[in-house]
Amino acid sequence: MTSDPRPPPTETEAQRLGVRLACTLDNISDAFLMLDRQWRLTFINREAERLLQCKRAEVLGMNIWQRFPEAVGGPYYQAYHRAVATRSSVLFEEYYAPLDLWTEVRAYPSDEGLAIYFLDISTRKAQEAAFHKLAFFDRLTGLPNRQLLVDRVGQALERFRRSQYCGAVLFIDLDNFKSVNDARGHDKGDLLLQQVAGRLKESVRASDTVARFGGDEFVVLLEGVGESGEAAAQHAREVAGKILRAFDAPFDIEGVQHYSTPSVGVTIIDRSSGSTEEVLKRADLAMYQSKAAGRNTSTWFEAGMEQRVAARAALEADLRQALNEGRFELHYQPQCDLRQRMTGAEALLRWRHPQRGMVQPGEFIPLTEETGIIIPLGSWVLRTACAQLARWAAQPRTEGLRMAVNVSAQQFHRPDFVEQVLQALADTGANPGRLKLELTESLLLKDVEATIARMERLREVGVGFSLDDFGTGYSSLSYLHRLPLEQLKIDRSFIWDAGTGRHGKAIVHTIAGLGKALRIEVMAEGVETDAQLAMVEEGGCHLFQGYLYSKPLAPDALAAFIAQASLAGFHV
Ligand code: C2E
Ligand code: CA
Ligand code: CA
Repeated sequence: MTSDPRPPPTETEAQRLGVRLACTLDNISDAFLMLDRQWRLTFINREAERLLQCKRAEVLGMNIWQRFPEAVGGPYYQAYHRAVATRSSVLFEEYYAPLDLWTEVRAYPSDEGLAIYFLDISTRKAQEAAFHKLAFFDRLTGLPNRQLLVDRVGQALERFRRSQYCGAVLFIDLDNFKSVNDARGHDKGDLLLQQVAGRLKESVRASDTVARFGGDEFVVLLEGVGESGEAAAQHAREVAGKILRAFDAPFDIEGVQHYSTPSVGVTIIDRSSGSTEEVLKRADLAMYQSKAAGRNTSTWFEAGMEQRVAARAALEADLRQALNEGRFELHYQPQCDLRQRMTGAEALLRWRHPQRGMVQPGEFIPLTEETGIIIPLGSWVLRTACAQLARWAAQPRTEGLRMAVNVSAQQFHRPDFVEQVLQALADTGANPGRLKLELTESLLLKDVEATIARMERLREVGVGFSLDDFGTGYSSLSYLHRLPLEQLKIDRSFIWDAGTGRHGKAIVHTIAGLGKALRIEVMAEGVETDAQLAMVEEGGCHLFQGYLYSKPLAPDALAAFIAQASLAGFHV
């Protein structure tokens, strides 16, 4: 200090310096304030006047908390007090609502008081918000997107790791969304997704997250729903129920009512939940189980689900390969009248698996339906059955036989189904009048008008229809007389029931009576014993199919059966 060569500034020099400093501070681009130790404003530059919307002459000497009372106790107040108390500078970003101003603030305490520099960062904040919206929100629905969801699940897991709290993740996938998109166009599909988003949001609390995960998939994150797994499960169950009910009412897609259902998978999350990825995978797996269980339902994640889903995936791959390698076969189960005269056969699928041997359709048809493999497979069945029909037509002894072919809902509701059948008939030269398609009740009840129109087009060329598994479906008989059916097929469970003395016998009676009234044939399926046959006959039913007459047979065995039947004196 003593070696400072400069002379002390004179009064005027000090004044001049002060003026120059004030001038400099006035012209810097940061806003600048100085407060004394009683929080009174001792200096305010031009930028600060502008941002705080006040005049220097009015505020100098005023206590800053009197001038900005809304700030008392808030973040600015606390930060400045902390700076003064700890004698260390503070740096922070904060929003001051009364002036709609985002600020970046640096404050330096000294013996005189506090020097505060601040910047208007509103534009940057708006840009950040816009970017955030683009990057983390789905544009179609306005919901958080996959990325934000993953982030929030991660944060929730982090919080649960430090507490007793539990939450839940619900994975929601719309059933048959693809068909809306395909049939009515993407813009209509978009409208549906927007409305679904709205209903999902109404099903949860504001503090929960509903995100669009992608396509027709949504994920709900329920946070802090309880301190025990049971409480969380209870809450999640309620929300899952609410979500399912939210789809009860139809959606209005530009004046057209559309019904949609969701499949929901639920998993509880807590401190032991593992990674975000694992949590989402579990909810997704549970959702797949809901699909497998017939959709429009919710399923809880359970251990072991991975294996089951993996097994399903393997089966699906197997099925596709089998289709490519021609490993499917059609077997034929003879049908006959009461005099045991063969009237035709039902074509039944079999899968010759390289390791598992012959696989029955009950084990693979449901999966082919869910995965859409039934479309090419069903088309193969039709062609193969029609080819057999054409071969029968070439032999006098078998020319009168009819062929029954099972048709799945997915197949039947394809827009080109009628053309597919006509094409199979044309390509094989089979007689349409000898082809009978077996449909189920649930298939027929979906969009009855369109179904009837479709049936009638095939009816015109002579194709017949049988109502399969009759009695097990919707039990709404009011539509029956409107359908161009030529046959009801009593489900085999009633035939078996009849033998045990339960109400099966009455049902056989009633259905046979119904058939008579409607003038359509009634066939009993699954007849295994003479007693059952007697009961069927007594009930007034004239056609049957069952092990009593024959099991389903491979083509060679069928040819032998027909030859033998005629040898034994049966008419074929
Ligand atoms: P379904 O249409 O009800 O076919 C009759 C089923 O009952 C056949 O089983 C047949 O083998 C069995 N059955 C017939 N008589 C008797 C009997 O006296 N006793 C017993 N215990 N069973 C009898 P299968 O072949 O296992 O077929 C099961 C189901 O798979 C069929 O039920 C049908 O819904 C479906 N399915 C079979 N082939 C096809 C196909 O080509 N396309 C489609 N979409 N579904 C098919
Ligand atoms: Ca059938
Ligand atoms: Ca049946």
